[in-house]
Formats: sequence, C-alpha cells, structure tokens
Amino acid sequence: MRVKKQKRHRKVVRFYSACFGFREPYKVLCDGTFIHHLLHHRLTPADDVISHLLGARALLFTTRCIIGELRSLGESHSEALEAAQQLFTARCDHEKRVGATACVESVIGEANSEHFFVATQDADMRKKFREVPGVPVIYGLRNSLFIEQPSAQQRQYAKSTEEKRLHMGESEYLKLYKSDLKGVTTNDSTNRVTEGTQLTRNISTTKRMLGVAEKSKFKRKRAKGPNPLSCKKKKKDDASAPQNQDGVDSGVTKKKIRKRKRAKETASFLPSALSARKEGKVACTVKESAFLGSSIFEHHKSQFNAPVLRTKRESNHSVGVVKAQTTAVAAPGLNQSAVHGKKVLRKGVVVITGASSGLGLAAAKALAETEKWHVVMACRDFLKAEKAAQSAGMAKENYSIMHLDLASLDSVRQFVHGFRQSGRPLDVLVCNAAIYRPTARTPTYTADGYEMSVGVNHLGHFLLANMLLEDLKKSDYPSRRLIILGSITGNTNTLAGNVPPKAGLGDLRGLAGGLDGRNSSAMIDGGTFDGAKAYKDSKICNMLTMQELHRRFHEDTGITFASLYPGCIATTGLFREHIPLFRLLFPPFQKFITKGFVSEDESGKRLAQVVGDPSLLKSGVYWSWNNNSASFENQLSEEASDAVKAQKLWEISEKLVGLA
Ligand SMILES: [Zn+2]
Repeated sequence: MRVKKQKRHRKVVRFYSACFGFREPYKVLCDGTFIHHLLHHRLTPADDVISHLLGARALLFTTRCIIGELRSLGESHSEALEAAQQLFTARCDHEKRVGATACVESVIGEANSEHFFVATQDADMRKKFREVPGVPVIYGLRNSLFIEQPSAQQRQYAKSTEEKRLHMGESEYLKLYKSDLKGVTTNDSTNRVTEGTQLTRNISTTKRMLGVAEKSKFKRKRAKGPNPLSCKKKKKDDASAPQNQDGVDSGVTKKKIRKRKRAKETASFLPSALSARKEGKVACTVKESAFLGSSIFEHHKSQFNAPVLRTKRESNHSVGVVKAQTTAVAAPGLNQSAVHGKKVLRKGVVVITGASSGLGLAAAKALAETEKWHVVMACRDFLKAEKAAQSAGMAKENYSIMHLDLASLDSVRQFVHGFRQSGRPLDVLVCNAAIYRPTARTPTYTADGYEMSVGVNHLGHFLLANMLLEDLKKSDYPSRRLIILGSITGNTNTLAGNVPPKAGLGDLRGLAGGLDGRNSSAMIDGGTFDGAKAYKDSKICNMLTMQELHRRFHEDTGITFASLYPGCIATTGLFREHIPLFRLLFPPFQKFITKGFVSEDESGKRLAQVVGDPSLLKSGVYWSWNNNSASFENQLSEEASDAVKAQKLWEISEKLVGLA
C-alpha cells in the first residue's frame, strides 16, 4: 500500500515538473494549520518528512503574516510559532498583517510564478487552489501526508498550454506567408495561411530561407560536434597518414587532413558564430568535460533564456588552478538565426577587502598565481598594500590597488564609483577585512558614528555588498560570487564559540538605536561595551547577511552567496592587539592541542577555492575544512541561522547605511 501511495505522489510531482516547470529543491509554503498538524502528529523533522513525500529536497517557507497569526493565537500555538520562525520567509508585501489565506493567495498570485507547493489543512484553501493553474497542494491526514491529485482544471490547463506550444503563433504564420509571397514556392500561396497541413511541408525550406535553425537539426549537429574521445583517434590518423603517402590515393588523404586542420583552427580561434558560418554549421563546439559538475549548467540554463552560457573547464585537482573558458550559444529558438554570441576568454575580476595582510593577502596571492584572476585589493593603506603585493611576489598585471576605508560609508561609495570608472567588470566580491579589538576598554567609532567593530566588519561591508550587487549582476562571467568571511568565534554551537564572552545580538535594540554609545548602547544587544564580544557580534551579522542575501537575490540573479571559516590562523595580525602572553601561547596551543591551526598560505588557498572552484558553487553555504583540508558545508548556530533576525538586521542596517 505504502509503495503504491509513494508512486502516486511521485507521479504528481512529475506532472508539475513537466507541465509547470517545478524544479528541485522544491519550495513548500506552509501555513499555520499545517505546521500545527506536523507538530501535533510528531511529523518531524519537517523538511525530511516533506522531502521524502516529494522524493527530492524541499525547502519550507512561511510568511510574516502567518507567523503573526500564530503569535496572536497565544500560548496554545507557541510551539507552532517557534517552528514557523525556523522556516524561510517567503516575501509578502503586506505592511499590515493580513489573514493567512489572503497572504498565501497573494504570494501565489495568479500563476504561482515562484513554483510553490502549498501545504495547508484548510479545506477552503485546498478547494480554492484547485482552480489556480500550477499550484500543488499538500495536506495531512492523521500521521500521513498527501499531495492532492491534479484537478481536472489543472490538467486541462496543462494540456492547453502544451497545445499552444505545439503550434505556430500568428506572427510565425505571417512570416512564412510573407516569405512565400516573395516567390520561393509559388503555387496557391494565399490558401496556405489557412491550411496549416500544407504549410508544414514547406516549413523546412522556408525556415532555411529565413535563417531559422530547426530544432532537430540543431540537435543532430551537436551530436556530431567534436567529442573528446574521437578527437584522440583522429590524431592517431594524422600521425599514420604520412606513412601511407606512397600509396595510390595519398593525395586524397592529404587533402582530407588539411581540411580537418583548418576546421579545427577556425573553431578554436574565431568567435563561434563566425566559425559556424564558415563551416556552414549551426552548432559551435560544445564540450562538456566530465569534471565539471552538471550543476553549473543547470544553474545558468535557468538563469538565461538566450544566450545560454556554456562553460568548458579544465581543472587540476589542486586548489584554484582553474582554467575557465566560456562559449555563449544561442538557445535553439524559432526566431533566432543560428548562433550569435561571443566567446568570453578573460580573467575573472575579484575584489578583496583588507587584502594587504593576513588571509586577504594570502588569498590574493593564491588567486594571482593562477593567472586566471585579476585581484583588486581594496585597502585602507595604499603603500602597505603595494609593499605587501610586491613582497608576496604578485605580478603587476594580476592586481591593482584601490583605496577603501570601511570605517567611512563615504569612502565605500567613493570606492564603488572609482571601481566603476575603472571599467572593469566585477565577478567576485570577497568581504574579508575585519577589525578585532579584544582588549579595548572603551568603544571607538567610525566616521559615521557607529561602534568600530560592527561599523567596519558589518555595516561597511553591508553597504559595499549592496552597491556592488548591481555590478555582479551585470557580469557575464560563468560563476559570480559574493563571499563574506565568517568566524568560528561568532558561532556559538562550537567549542571556540563558547569561550566567553559569547556572541549574542539580543533583540538588536542597540543597533536599532544607532550604535553610537550616546543615545543607545555601543553594543548590538544594548549591553555594556566588550571589545571581544563586539567582534563576535559583527561576525554573526556577517553570517546573517550572507544568508539574507542568498534568500533575497540568489534565485533571481544566480549569484552564489557564501561564507566560510578557513581555519584558525593563529599567526595573523588580527591578534595584533591581543595581550602579549596570549599571543605567545596561542599558536602552540592551537597547533598541538586543538589542531585547528592552519598556516596563512593554506587558509588563503581555501578562500581562493571558494572564489573560483567550480565544486564550491552552492549558494547560502557556510564552508569549513576538516583536518585533511577537505571542504564541507558547516552548520550554523541557531542565532546565526535565524531567518527572522536576519531580516530584521537587514532592515535596520539598510537604514543605518542610508539605503532605506
Ligand atoms: Zn503577508
């Protein structure tokens, strides 16, 4: 019985994937009744249960209005409220709270463009969504969950859209009609517009005339394209050919070889569109090396309709040595003439803040050494950065230095302006710079009057990231990333994170009050100043910001947002203000007792990996490394992954940096 039910569910999921474009990970919008049902029947962990139901990874969403409604229900629903707060928040634009049903309806809209599954126990709501095309509904009966079978209306809608796609549109008919009149095929052309059957016979000729690529043709050519295995064989032929030259038909073989060589040259040096025309072929070379995960393909396919970016990568196993070459191929569309696009063969441009020392410098060095990256070192001290780059042996053409003082929002704005003036594209931004003042007794302040640690580490970067997001969106580089450095000390679910003072943002009252030490506290949670805690708090802000960026922008922009903890670099200058005894003891302690010690070089390579390695493309992830230097997705503490807090932090920060 159970297997049968599962099969039926998978079939429904397939229906929505095929007809309405639902994709993994599936998004499930849960209302209060459903969350309550899950808890009541102990169907937890909820995302596992639902992922199992859908047969693929599922992300659970709710809305602020639903959370508000649960809150208003009081004590009896406190458990559900707590659970709801752990889910992702789907954006609804209700300033004042509306009822859950109305809110879910507004999020779904007319066509469920965000592809949500709706999970509810509300019978009315279930009934309602049967009539909206492309909205699968999940509900529970006692301790098992069900997906509603697509209603007759759903099926009808899917069928009609499929029908539409099968036939030509009016404009296409008209085009064919006009081209017919021009006199390629002359007999009874006037009737043809109405008689679709006759028309189809001549479609191929007319299409050729219009320069429209046929779908099937495109596919066939693609299969014919050079395949790495066959290329090798051909080489062997080349080598053996001269030996056969004494033979009778040597002239023929010679000619053949020459032809092939020329074809190869054009394919590799000319823009693909040109070479394609020369050879009279439609497709340009599309090689997909097995090393490249398919994720990057799907990723970009979903982002652009045309041209679809395809990447060809050869990669060594060592860190950062990644050769990237991209080819833009037009998607096989009816109205697009063959191929138009260009080959992108350029260095990636990465901006790293605080790149004049420590981890930032190590990463800049590692990236510059690959010759695949141009590093823009965004630093407060120009001379120090120049000296550091030179002593690190970075080649002149692989880096440039630009002034940026994160303790001044004006400086951030100027930096962005200057960067745009430089005419460089932006492919990756690394927010690395950090101030750490553990022994400070009294707070110091940024130019804008915010406590220094949070002002520089969080607010400065917050403005920078928001402004440069526009530039990242414009980049044509195959993988664009925004990376914010995290820290283990800001993560209270680790041993290191539990060394007092512990990080904690409280209800953000200090930050909301302006963090200026006069009208409000200099600490985010409103408490008394503590330099070490201020740093840890700022790191929590960094991690929350990364996740909020992911939630707000990843889906629409395809940009990867990630954070990382590259290991404890005990020798770094971050500890320059620490008490001398601690400085003396800390590196050996780390090295021999906790084994968490990594050299600056190694940590720099790890950061470089997050910048450029195709295997670390996932967004919304906090990367860490184990003792064997293998990367893995780390768990964040409860506070550092609190979506509600992240949103609140975002809104307050927007005000403080003048974005809202
Ligand atoms: Zn709402």
